[in-house]
Amino acid sequence: AGRWPNGSSATARSAIARRAGRRIRPLALVEYRGRFAPSPSGPLHFGSLIAALAGYLQARASGGKWLVRIEDIDLPRAMTGADGIILHTLEKLGLYWDEEVVYQSRRHKRYAEILARLQQDHRLYPCSCSRRQTAGRIYSGQCRNGIAPNAGATSLRIKVDARPIRFVDQIQGPRSERLDSTLGDFIIKRADRIISYNLAVVVDDADQRISEVMRGTDLIATTARQIFLQQTLGFATPAYAHVPVAVDAAGNKLSKQNRAPAIDAGRGRAWLLAALAFLGQGPPAALGAAEGADILRWGVANWRLARVPRRQTIHYPLRPA
Ligand code: GLU
Repeated sequence: AGRWPNGSSATARSAIARRAGRRIRPLALVEYRGRFAPSPSGPLHFGSLIAALAGYLQARASGGKWLVRIEDIDLPRAMTGADGIILHTLEKLGLYWDEEVVYQSRRHKRYAEILARLQQDHRLYPCSCSRRQTAGRIYSGQCRNGIAPNAGATSLRIKVDARPIRFVDQIQGPRSERLDSTLGDFIIKRADRIISYNLAVVVDDADQRISEVMRGTDLIATTARQIFLQQTLGFATPAYAHVPVAVDAAGNKLSKQNRAPAIDAGRGRAWLLAALAFLGQGPPAALGAAEGADILRWGVANWRLARVPRRQTIHYPLRPA
């Protein structure tokens, strides 16, 4: 059953309508639409499985859709074939998605259209500052006043302002950020002509009508930027839920770099159980003997977002026991 956008039930609303003595046409029910958006930089590992499984369970438990989008806009970092490996692993695990897989690399026209719109609205300006000049600092806005005539490759930045961007993360709680004091004007198109992750994600989430973004807390810091872009472009803001990120003993996110092993679909059951436990769902010992499909069925039936630890990171050994 879907929920009414304002949280009141259909019965309560029709009672209100009756009392008001007029018929209110029911609003369309909002369909839950989640997504998993891996960058194809390597095979699926435990860290990415957490985001995939959490999103899958949340979508299925809400009776909604779960989509997959391959974020291959940053082509230099993509590993050839990784998209196929990721999709194959999801299928082997029984994490079937809805609708066609969207590839960012096929959406350049759409991003160009949005970029042109931002330019027409005078939201962007070219910037010739190097990464080295600006790394780790709040951007001063220096190039707002123009760039040197012979500046080489330029990036495009968007002008931010002082308004606080507020959202309530469904797991991590309320957040508020003023981009002018945390970041400054940020890059929308890089000097190497690649569209920024933030712009691509915002356009894709809007076009795919995503109602809730579930992903790792490593991306929670990008959320205010993305909401700012949604507001600038007149797009709806989805709900956000950031799940804890698995880290190694040194506190680094599990990744190819610290040799987090690829999810071997042959041990899919063990990985799924480990991921359910990581997400605080407490799978019963009896599930240890179950098939992957039954583990997922249990996961959907018993999914409680409130049980996901409200933590940014959780230490995790590289392999399930
Ligand atoms: N492509 C990003 C990643 O793999 C995820 C983007 C998102 O979920 O918004 O880290």
